[in-house]
Amino acid sequence: MKKINMILISSLFVSSVVFLGIVINKKVLVGAHDKSVIKYIDFSPTLEVLKDTMNADISSHQLKEKNEINWISVLSYLGTKYGGNFKRYQKKHLEEYVKKIKNEEEIEISNRKLHDYYVKAYSSILNGVLGEKEITKKDGTKTKEYGIKISSPIPRGYPFTHYDDFGAKRTFGFRRPHLGHDLFCAIGTPVLAVEDGYIEIMGWNRFGGWRIGIRSHDKLRYWYYAHLRKDKPFNPSIHEGDSVKAGQHIGYVGKTGYSDKENVNNIKRSHLHLGLQIIFDEEQKDGPNQIWISLYNLINLLKAKGV
Ligand SMILES: [Zn+2]
Repeated sequence: MKKINMILISSLFVSSVVFLGIVINKKVLVGAHDKSVIKYIDFSPTLEVLKDTMNADISSHQLKEKNEINWISVLSYLGTKYGGNFKRYQKKHLEEYVKKIKNEEEIEISNRKLHDYYVKAYSSILNGVLGEKEITKKDGTKTKEYGIKISSPIPRGYPFTHYDDFGAKRTFGFRRPHLGHDLFCAIGTPVLAVEDGYIEIMGWNRFGGWRIGIRSHDKLRYWYYAHLRKDKPFNPSIHEGDSVKAGQHIGYVGKTGYSDKENVNNIKRSHLHLGLQIIFDEEQKDGPNQIWISLYNLINLLKAKGV
């Protein structure tokens, strides 16, 4: 933990994080105007914290409260309060925060620099998760509703198993940590795009086998879907450069990869490898300072919310 804190603190200084303004109840936005670069993110909120803060955000928006709760602001506040250790979470801390927002009371931030770091880090990961989305009602008419905008990568009704495998050891090619999340399921299970974006890359890669890389429209997130099915990996209607929508069918689960030769099954157990890379600067994309995010709790959150 100490080591992680050191890395975190040093990355704060190295990256000269620009103060984004006090974020209490404003929509948190990280965009092109902010040129500072974060080099390390440990995304560690527990499922309970994610669920509670998301519920507080959604219900305040659905009730159209005057002072809406923004879960990224709450997570940044709690992350600062706990020094990143969300095992210290107590629901009363969230309730106190919500009460203060509703009463328009000031919220005390103990460590401004650390808080700015969390705002930027959590915004980069979660900015696309909640918002207004168009839904079609039973009678065919369309309406807008506030809620979860992203999709589970595996459609509802298709079983999968998973565990927290981020950072586990991998040895094909060279020794390296596992920078993604594996969802074990049957060959041929449809794979859906998690978030809106455009297809940056599609084809064979010696590690990932048949794989698709989709970049969010704000360019901050790169979703990587790997080990897709031999012979028919992709939905034939999608192509490199296309825009895709969250929930759109993009391919099929398989066990290809770990091979220099194309279209080879060399993975023992069929699964979808899903990766989420955060890119503040294009040099981070393929360079040595790549930031990959643990997705275990986020996938569990989508599961818990029936998405
Ligand atoms: Zn994997």
